[in-house]
Amino acid sequence: MKVSRTIEAVRLELAPHRSGSIGLVPTMGALHDGHLSLLRAARAECDTVVMSLFVNPAQFGDESDLASYPRDEEHDLAAAKEAGVHLVFAPSAEEMYPPGFQTWVEVTELGSMLEGRFRPGHFRGVATVVLKLLVIVRPDRAYFGQKDAQQVEVIRRMIHDLALDVELRVVPTVRDADGLAISSRNGLLSPEERQRALALPRALATKDAERARELLAESNGLEVDYVELAEFDPLVLAAAVRVGSTRLIDNVPLEGGHG
Ligand code: AMP
Repeated sequence: MKVSRTIEAVRLELAPHRSGSIGLVPTMGALHDGHLSLLRAARAECDTVVMSLFVNPAQFGDESDLASYPRDEEHDLAAAKEAGVHLVFAPSAEEMYPPGFQTWVEVTELGSMLEGRFRPGHFRGVATVVLKLLVIVRPDRAYFGQKDAQQVEVIRRMIHDLALDVELRVVPTVRDADGLAISSRNGLLSPEERQRALALPRALATKDAERARELLAESNGLEVDYVELAEFDPLVLAAAVRVGSTRLIDNVPLEGGHG
């Protein structure tokens, strides 16, 4: 497995692999079973698998959220190697946002609803970094988790609107045995907060917005940001809650779709 820190190095590294298919799995590291599921899907479908590992400052509104985001590059590189990744792109913030950077991608409507209302600028940061990763890696397929349903929708819209030549692949949400969707942020929960957080998947499992709102309103120690039906592909019941200082999002598809 190779690790590249610069855009130029990625391009040189991938040049001999362009005759086969290339899959890109964008991550912010702190790899868990959800990421591994994306990597497995990419391995199964692509000749060369590229994983990006970049905690994207542009998608964090809050300095303290960015500062507390878990980072463990040594563990991530070992896990990526184990998962059969061929190339990890782990750039610095300066490599991705050089001095004077001022070009942004805004998916206007989809980026400002739901999560966008609570995290202004978040999807602008996501869309911009994903477009830049797509331009750098030029994959045939890019892999994203259904866990972040709105992110998938924003990226699908961007790919369509900008006529990007890449296939979007969506992988079902991976959950722990207790039902909590796996997230890099779960490690920030105390054992007691984690118990309280279980109200989120339980509420969503009803697949009924009203009932889910009631269940979350009744549960102690959770602040609800929203519980909404979202007309994504597939239709989902999506919610965001705060448990202590940790914010969790989750969703369940309501029709067919990706788990
Ligand atoms: P992140 O590192 O949190 O930015 O996530 C990188 C990718 O992994 C995104 O496409 C996420 O949607 C996906 N992902 C995160 N958690 C899960 C999960 N529990 N199941 C499936 N995909 C996930």
